[in-house]
This record gives sequence, structure tokens and C-alpha cells, in this order.
Amino acid sequence: MSDYDYDLFVIGAGSGGVRAARMAAAEGVRVAVAEQSRTGGTCVNLGCVPKKLYVHAAEYGAGFAEATGFGWHTQQINFDWPTLRENKEMNIRKLNSLYEETLAKAGAELLKGRARLLGPQRVEVAGKEYRAEKILLATGSHPFIPDFPGNEHVLSSDQIFDLEQLPKRILIVGGGYIATEFAGIFHGLGVEVIQLYRGELFLGGFDQEIREFVAAQMRKKGIKLHFNSDVTSIEKTVKNKLIATLNDGRNLEVDSILYATGRKPNTADLGLDSAGITLTESGAVQVDDYYQTSVPSIYALGDLIDRMQLTPVALAEAMVLVKNLYRGYKQKLDYDLIPTAVFCQPTIGTVGLTEAEALEKYPSIDIYSTNFRSLKHALSGSGDRILMKLLVEPVSDRVLGVHMAGEQAGEIIQGIAVALKAGATKTIFDQTIGIHPTSAEEFVTMRSVSRTLP
Ligand code: NDP
Repeated sequence: MSDYDYDLFVIGAGSGGVRAARMAAAEGVRVAVAEQSRTGGTCVNLGCVPKKLYVHAAEYGAGFAEATGFGWHTQQINFDWPTLRENKEMNIRKLNSLYEETLAKAGAELLKGRARLLGPQRVEVAGKEYRAEKILLATGSHPFIPDFPGNEHVLSSDQIFDLEQLPKRILIVGGGYIATEFAGIFHGLGVEVIQLYRGELFLGGFDQEIREFVAAQMRKKGIKLHFNSDVTSIEKTVKNKLIATLNDGRNLEVDSILYATGRKPNTADLGLDSAGITLTESGAVQVDDYYQTSVPSIYALGDLIDRMQLTPVALAEAMVLVKNLYRGYKQKLDYDLIPTAVFCQPTIGTVGLTEAEALEKYPSIDIYSTNFRSLKHALSGSGDRILMKLLVEPVSDRVLGVHMAGEQAGEIIQGIAVALKAGATKTIFDQTIGIHPTSAEEFVTMRSVSRTLP
């Protein structure tokens, strides 16, 4: 009889934790998962899933207006925020149940309550102590809000989904994924949106041309983008309005302020000290290439280790970990060519190197790019355009990066990512027959080099 209550004790039933628990249990391992809140973690409850539902809701707004060009005559269009909020909630509850069923079916035991480490192989949940041979920390991350006078008046992305009322005017601070996606969501739902970013141009880390294109398209739609700008303080008026004072002295009056200024790993009150776990300089749990922490019996993955805060990455890390621990593999996850999308309008889809990254690695690159209006918008009356670009290394002919801003960019780039992972060259793109008429076919019909860099 083993000295342990479980072979693997997972803390956190989010994307990474549940995947690891489920896969390990399928290997015949005795698994427990502790969760203090709803199953599914950030992605299901306060991230990807509700966000994407809200993006769909927002895109209907433009869709109704565009439909008239195709002969549809819509009467008065009304949007009802509580309907969206409540339907979203219903969908999430279904997913929570599905996660619980999946765990149960796999044979993993779900323990409700906050878990804390008591030592390298000991965990406490709701006053009860458990011993486990191995422990996996998958506690995720939380929104970070900087410290400044009046920051108690702002909302984080955890609070934004369930607002009692849709604001008339919202200020969104941040220039990353969440800020830009919510700028699109609120604009699409009819809210007046101001997005504020402290740097020169938002969406740092994405291809410069894509960033500029998206900024121009968003402005054209009526979203106010203020760059090189930051909030120094916020005050609430007697009428419950918020006045944000900016670093240039200007005041902005709005109904709500959303801060989307990054997410920090959930390391607090986990008993990391009692187990002797080392953190990185940025406060994430430090792990090696195999997700082992400084304590050999304890592993960590997902947002908590802050490599890439993306659900599919946490899932992939979990799968590599379980294969290594229980199937005799010694694999490392390949973090190269991870595709990603920002669900703003136009949507950004991207895989591989940006122009700046490619130029750091190669002496010269060829850019193939196209900027066009899709066939749909010949009748829709919309001024939306699409930007697509391929970055090619001329000596090897390898496609180094593919970037798109436009409708369905996430769907399109997912397929292109497979080609890049397979080492596709520009010749292979050229040999691929297009699907006509689509926007995606442009990726296989760009024949002339638009620019050669440097
Ligand atoms: P991001 O890291 O994407 O962006 C954070 C933004 O906040 C940056 O523009 C940053 O500016 C700015 N910022 C940071 N600190 C401050 C500060 N003190 N004052 C003002 N601005 C500040 O984080 P998000 O919060 O948008 O999202 C968190 C993570 O979640 C993302 O990195 C992504 O991995 C994931 N995510 C993925 C999605 C997807 O796949 N579609 C959707 C949503 C989230 P600067 O660049 O100058 O540092």
C-alpha cells in the first residue's frame, strides 16, 4: 500500500490543470484536483470563452448594418445587454458541468476548496491534509492593475463581463490583447470607446505594419485611440461618473474604466515558501524545460510559469508533462511557431516572425503583402479592408512569418500555422491552388515581392 493518498495532486482546475489531471488519470494514476472556484479557470469563466461570445455579439452590430446592401431590410435593431450576459452565463455553467463530468469520467477526484502546500509532498484543502507523490501547480494568473490614486474605481477583465449595465462611454487602458479586444467588443455593442496606451503604438510584439493597419481601421470605425498617454489619477463624481486625469493634464469623463494592463501569476497564499519553491524575477514559478520546480516532487505550468499566457500553450504543456511523468517520454515542448489571434476588428492572426524579428536573424527578407477589400464589402457598404503578408527568407525560400488583419484571421492563420510547422517554402505556397472566391486564397496567389528588407 502506498504512503500517498494520491500519485498526482493538481492545484487548479483551469485549462492546464484539468488536461493534466484527465490525462494522468487515464494512465491509471490516482489523481486529485483542488479548485476553489468554478472549474475551467480563466479561459472558461473569465477569458477566452465569454470574450469570444461577446466578440460575436459585437460583430452582429456591424452585420445588421451591412446586410442592407444585400437587400435585407431590418426594422429597429435593439441590443439587450442582460440577455447577452445571462445567455453567456448559462453557456459557462454548462461548460463548468462538462469539465466536472470529464474529470469524474477520467477517474480524477475533484476537491472543492483552496489548496495550500504544506511541504514537498503535502497539501491542505479545507482543513484536511493530503499526501501526494507529485504535485502540479496550475493556479493561473490574475489581472494586474497598477497602483495610482483612484485605482479602486477601475474594473479588471474579471469584472467586465458581468456589468449590471452597459456603460455609455468607457475608457480602456492598455495596449495588449484584452484592451484591444474589449475596445472592439464595446464599440460593436454601441458604447463610445476610448483606448489609452502608454507607448507609441499599441499591440507591442506584433508586426509593426499590422499594428499600424489595425490602429487605422479601428479609428475609421470610430474608436478613439490615444497613444503616448497614461492615467495619473481617477475621481468619482457625485453623479457616479469617473474623471480620469491624464499625464498631459487632460480630463476624460466616462461611465466605466477598464484596466487591461497584463496578468500576474497566482502565487500568493499557496504555501510556496513552506515547500521551498523558487520564483523568477518577474514573480512566476520557476521551472525547467520539463516543468519541474526547484522542488523535485512539484511541477508547474500555464500562466503560473508565465511563458506564454495562452490556453492552448497550457494544454500542450500539460500533455508534455503527463507523457514525461507517466508514459516514459522525455519531451520538451516546442514553443516555436505558436500561432495567435487578437479578436479585435479587424481580427489579427499571426504565426512566426515579425519583420523586426526576421531582420534580427537574417540578412535580408522578402515581403509579399496585399491590402484589399473583400468581395463581401463590395455590397456591404463597409470600408473594412484586409492586410495579409508573408515574410520569406530568399536563400532557403522558407516562409518565416505570416500575418493577417481582417475577418476570420484566426481561422485562416490556424491552417497556415500547420504549413509553417511543416517547413513550407514560398514555392509550396505558390504550388497550392486557391479556394475561390475567398480572402484566404490571397495567401497562395501573391506572386511579386512587395518589398525587400533591409
Ligand atoms: P498584455 O500583456 O497583452 O498587454 C498588457 C498591456 O498593458 C501592454 O500594452 C502594456 O504596455 C500595458 N501595461 C502594462 N503595465 C502597465 C502600466 N503599469 N500602466 C499602463 N499600461 C501598462 O496583457 P493583457 O492584460 O491584455 O492580457 C494578458 C494575457 O492574456 C496576454 O498577454 C495574452 O497572453 C492572454 N490573452 C490572450 C488572448 C488571445 O489569445 N486572444 C486574449 C486575451 C488575453 P507595454 O507594452 O508598454 O508594457
